[in-house]
Amino acid sequence: MRDDILEVLISENELQDKVSELGAQLTEEYADRFPLVIGILKGSLPFMGDLMKKIDAHLEYDVMDVSSYGTGFVSSGEVKIEKDLNTSIEGRDVIIVEDIIDSGNTLKYLTDLFKYRKAKSIKIVTLLDKPDGRQVDIYPDAAGFVVPDEFVVGYGLDYIERYRNLPYIGILKPEVYQK
Ligand code: 5GP
Ligand code: MG
Ligand code: MG
Repeated sequence: MRDDILEVLISENELQDKVSELGAQLTEEYADRFPLVIGILKGSLPFMGDLMKKIDAHLEYDVMDVSSYGTGFVSSGEVKIEKDLNTSIEGRDVIIVEDIIDSGNTLKYLTDLFKYRKAKSIKIVTLLDKPDGRQVDIYPDAAGFVVPDEFVVGYGLDYIERYRNLPYIGILKPEVYQK
């Protein structure tokens, strides 16, 4: 599997250091607020799992599955709920945890939805931000790393469901796509 990687963009150590930094920020901000952390499946799972352990505050978490990508790598612009939350967000301080913001379509849809559902506040925390891919105006409140406009995999991010289990963020060799 690791032979398929052309380049490691963000190492495991860099990821863990950044997660600790973000966790410390969130601890300060949410210490007395009992936030609802919402992880967007499936890509945010490793990040959310690590991040929560670095937030020293009472919190609750839930997951939601939406799709805007098909199985390949071109954003369709269309967002669909595959699995909704089990928790009511009315009056809650919501922290959305995403793996990456590319076109912004997914997060635009989710922030509009959560406003409509009367969240008290909404914070967007993304591990990666790919500003060059943006199609709609949406900005994360916190982003771990800015990445170039290339397709990245690992630490939750997939290519046809593979590579989510890589402990780092990398770029695939072109021949992987041609297989
Ligand atoms: P957006 O709606 O912002 O275009 O994209 C949201 C979703 O598309 C992300 O949560 C992620 O699942 C997928 N995505 C966007 N860019 C990449 C990328 O470079 N690599 C991978 N593996 N998925 C991506
Ligand atoms: Mg995602
Ligand atoms: Mg995907």
